[in-house]
Amino acid sequence: MPRAATADVVVVGAGIIGAACAEALTAAGVRVIVVDRGAVASGTTASGEGNVLVSDKEPGPELELAIASRAEWGVVLDRLPSRVADVEWESKGGVVVATTDPGPLRAFAAKQQAAGVDARVITAAEAFSLEPLLTRDVTVGVHYPEDAQLQPVLAATALLTAVRDRGGEVWSGVTGLSVRRSAQGRLIGLSTSAGEIACGAVLNACGPWAGEFGATAGGPIQVLPRRGMILVTAPLPECVRHKVYDADYVGAVGSGDADLQTSTVVESTRAGTVLIGSSRERIGFDDSVRVKVLRELARKAVGLFPFLGDVPVMRAYGGFRPYAPDHLPVIGPDPRVEGLWHATGHEGAGIGLAASTGRLITELFLGLAPHVAPEPFRVDRPAVIAA
Ligand SMILES: Cc1cc2nc3c(=O)[nH]c(=O)nc-3n(C[C@H](O)[C@H](O)[C@H](O)COP(=O)(O)OP(=O)(O)OC[C@H]3O[C@@H](n4cnc5c(N)ncnc54)[C@H](O)[C@@H]3O)c2cc1C
Repeated sequence: MPRAATADVVVVGAGIIGAACAEALTAAGVRVIVVDRGAVASGTTASGEGNVLVSDKEPGPELELAIASRAEWGVVLDRLPSRVADVEWESKGGVVVATTDPGPLRAFAAKQQAAGVDARVITAAEAFSLEPLLTRDVTVGVHYPEDAQLQPVLAATALLTAVRDRGGEVWSGVTGLSVRRSAQGRLIGLSTSAGEIACGAVLNACGPWAGEFGATAGGPIQVLPRRGMILVTAPLPECVRHKVYDADYVGAVGSGDADLQTSTVVESTRAGTVLIGSSRERIGFDDSVRVKVLRELARKAVGLFPFLGDVPVMRAYGGFRPYAPDHLPVIGPDPRVEGLWHATGHEGAGIGLAASTGRLITELFLGLAPHVAPEPFRVDRPAVIAA
């Protein structure tokens, strides 16, 4: 059992968000302990496909954070210890295609171009030269050279290795139970299943469980699980070169609908497997793998890449996206408990948004000028503060 300890900040949750925040804080000289009730990256981060995307976001605060984070990932990867810096980063680019009316996709790309995204409208023939195995039903495409990919578990592990190298600690198998407060109400410590940690701040990075931990800490927030499932093929020879998805994906990402939604997202990994996603459903923490979801994923993927109908599937898995009702992350101090902070609610984009989230938390914590406007992500917005 770890001994009694002190830190400037205790990060609760060792997923990609907690890891990125801890890394950025320690890079700035802040003393950090990270606790997770499971293993590193054993929550939603283990389910993430690893896309670092600008292509799937409407112009607005989340896109601004995504553009900043795409750049920040380069900075973060450069300062990782070389022995763990290979996190399977690939600047592979994304290709979005429409198989029906090309108008909406063209209009979406125009809005993104105006917001500073490198979004190149391409013909069907150009889409085939980028992705030779695509369905011939494509009517128009958009190429996003900035879209990238990494391996989320490797990335979280590497970030926490950097934390340890700088004197920080990572306690696995340790649950954050409650916060301790002074007579004036200021947070002065965290009680854990392995003892007390005296600290000046606690950062709630509990992903889909952040609502639960926030309530325990005196700062309840509306963060809910949104289930997603992925089909994984056996390793294949090179067949899908970019992250490829159907134009209806953006609508599913932005929808608040609780019912099952599926939209095709197909990409290969360095290991040769092809990931076929993704579904979105609000069904609480129900983790059953259901045939009706897998059938929809497979049907739509084969529509986009007909060859997938004949390849072996190796497994299927799911996870819970941490979802705030207004689809924006929750990043910053909790006005109700001095010393309590939150970094959560990244829904289906936490891997991509982690680098800038870590930087923003660090800037706010140290009182530095933030590199992106923090207001849209503040904790005390009506959609997030639980009644
Ligand atoms: C199928 C699927 C595909 C996805 N694909 C992508 C993608 O391609 N790109 C992308 O950017 N995002 C993707 N996402 C979303 C992304 O995975 C999440 O946004 C991200 O992983 C959230 O990270 P997190 O650190 O907030 O949460 P988590 O990874 O869940 O980490 C939270 C941690 O908190 C710990 N914890 C909870 N309560 C306590 C407590 N009381 N004490 C101690 N520890 C506690 C948990 O054990 C867990 O390890 C996908 C999600 C799913 C489900």
